[in-house]
Amino acid sequence: MAEHDYDLFVVGAGSGGVRAARVASELGARVAIGEEGRLGGTCVNVGCVPKKLFVYGSHFAYDLADTRGYGWTTESSFEWNTLRDNKDREIARLNEIYWGLLERAGVEILRGRVRVVDAHSVEIAGETRTADRILIATGGLPISPDIPGREHALTSNAIFSLDELPRRAMIVGAGYIALELGSVLRALGVDVTIVHRGEEILRGFDRDLRCHLHEELEVKGVRILLKTHVLSLKKTGDAVEAQLDNGERLETDFPLFAIGREPNTAGLGLEEVGVELGQRGGIVVDDSFTTSVPSIHAVGDVIDHVQLTPVAIAEGMQFAHQFYGSGDHRIDYRDIPTAVFCQPELATVGLTEAEAWHRCQDVRVYKSVFTPLKLSLSARKEHTIVKLVVDAANDRVVGCHMAGHNAAEIIQGLAVAMKAGATKAQFDATIGIHPTSAEEFVTLR
Ligand code: FAD
Ligand code: NDP
Repeated sequence: MAEHDYDLFVVGAGSGGVRAARVASELGARVAIGEEGRLGGTCVNVGCVPKKLFVYGSHFAYDLADTRGYGWTTESSFEWNTLRDNKDREIARLNEIYWGLLERAGVEILRGRVRVVDAHSVEIAGETRTADRILIATGGLPISPDIPGREHALTSNAIFSLDELPRRAMIVGAGYIALELGSVLRALGVDVTIVHRGEEILRGFDRDLRCHLHEELEVKGVRILLKTHVLSLKKTGDAVEAQLDNGERLETDFPLFAIGREPNTAGLGLEEVGVELGQRGGIVVDDSFTTSVPSIHAVGDVIDHVQLTPVAIAEGMQFAHQFYGSGDHRIDYRDIPTAVFCQPELATVGLTEAEAWHRCQDVRVYKSVFTPLKLSLSARKEHTIVKLVVDAANDRVVGCHMAGHNAAEIIQGLAVAMKAGATKAQFDATIGIHPTSAEEFVTLR
């Protein structure tokens, strides 16, 4: 076999690419990574991290309101630019950390847009580099609406560099991004309207939680339009007017479309070298992340499977260990916990009640809706819901769901219990930590 420049060339320094490159290099491979943007990819630059900082920042609006019942009087005001600029500084710090991690692992970092030329060659910044294997980890991109005036539509990227907060936001879609960014904007005082084509928000999540969250968002002042489509957008002075199919003309300063993300494969040269793509442009891989070209592999959002950072990282790890190391690092895609960082937060692991009824002969459901103790002295009303779904045949807990303060932190722990095959009897035999919201999960009868 001809000697190549590298054992592995990774395209894209996001969650999956960075992990694969670092681990492969630490396992002894000669690795280069090509990145056209900032190191860290979507999660670090325009995804999980800046989003969560905005969630924390905006939630202080509610926390400050809660302090009054506890005897505090505070003068408070909010400066968007301070939050945005501090967020930018933190992201720049993380970019540096990623640079250092890759360098210390011995990975060569190349800047520029990569194009695949053949089964073992890529082009970057006008130069050709060759590798025994190429790993595509180019992530995803927001989907643009196919409507007249689409050039006025914004994507989630826009919120991270906003000069000033809009007065009115229209958010199309009712999935992760719509509800997370809608919650942030609402907490900061923006007039938010969610426009959703479906019958209820958050398709795919447990119905009780979807309805619960819908009510809680409305209590916070989010306007939710269901079974509604945007027909067109047009500019009206500084604002944008959306024509809705319910007849309403909605004027907005921030027309955000959060209608899903598609695999980022356009212009990479993949089809030309024989890499098979799926219907939405996702790279088709087998269970070792190998494409239809044996030397080309892919992990992360670009394979259009599960679009979550920890999954992209786990795929990068499995890839690296599989080809450059030893041991079994195969991912278990069952029961992946996930959270929507809307306000209140929603988190879940395992089956919804409806899914459980499809898969199990008999199902037991336990749920509780309550006001958390912390809010008992607050004028603010927000309820928490916890729900367990149990397979009646063997008493195994097959679904844990929660919407409320710290739901993600709590469900992460319960996900371990579920992985270990915990039964409802074992939940019941676990002593609670009192007084907490989490203890509800071990006192449901
Ligand atoms: P990415 O992280 O997108 O990395 C791809 C990289 O490839 C990018 O750096 C890109 O610049 C580079 N690239 C692309 N094409 C080329 C090319 N031709 N040449 C060179 N470089 C190229 N997930 C969670 O688990 N939790 C969250 O809270 C969460 N919040 C999110 C919030 C938002 C607003 C968004 C948009 C996503 C969020 N996600 C979250 C999803 C998460 O960000 C992705 O699942 C994850 O980043 C996917 O990692 P990846 O490695 O596949 O791709
Ligand atoms: P989601 O798939 O979560 O939600 C998309 C929303 O847009 C759904 O409500 C969907 O409706 C609606 N929709 C889809 N197509 C259209 C259309 N053509 N016209 C109108 N509405 C439409 O995607 P997001 O963009 O919110 O996020 C992308 C992915 O990123 C997520 O799926 C998730 O994997 C990841 N992510 C994870 C986060 C986390 O872990 N906290 C946070 C943010 C993103 P319907 O239900 O009818 O299909």
